[in-house]
Amino acid sequence: MRLKHVSPGKETARFRHQEYLLDTYGPCLKQLGLRPTMPRLHVLDAFHKSVKRHLTAEDVFRSLLAQCSESSLATVYRTLSQFENVGLLKRNSFDSSRAYFELNDHEVHHHLLCLGCGAIQEFSNAFIDSVLHELAHLKGYQLLLRQIAIRGYCATCAYSRGGHPIARTAVSDSAS
Ligand SMILES: [Zn+2]
Ligand SMILES: [Zn+2]
Repeated sequence: MRLKHVSPGKETARFRHQEYLLDTYGPCLKQLGLRPTMPRLHVLDAFHKSVKRHLTAEDVFRSLLAQCSESSLATVYRTLSQFENVGLLKRNSFDSSRAYFELNDHEVHHHLLCLGCGAIQEFSNAFIDSVLHELAHLKGYQLLLRQIAIRGYCATCAYSRGGHPIARTAVSDSAS
């Protein structure tokens, strides 16, 4: 094994970080029946330390590159699917091109997506939830997923596009 380019201090720090990951996330993974491998620990850590709550596989892969050089995009995809299957992550398909994953808080919430800066905001609304339930009931649907995603421009982007940030504008859905 060639370790001559790695300083002992760096190696110790890496080992300490791996121990921290194992202590922090290992029990949770084991409880869900998943072996706490390094890629799994790093992926879970990426979600916990990210300032953004909704991450694509590419986002996760980028944040892993600095710490876990043995990870590949394929490993990240596989890990995300495994986490989704055990209910650790939720997958959101806001658009057909890519999926956004988030830690599963087991709460129903909806999303506002900004077409300008890509920001994703969450909101909860009991009235919307009850309307969705009633609609499904009327149509004889058994609800599996009750989530809505609203596309538009956030206050900052709306302002920079020349609109008033809090002006009410007619909703036009060009993405249907
Ligand atoms: Zn925006
Ligand atoms: Zn969300």
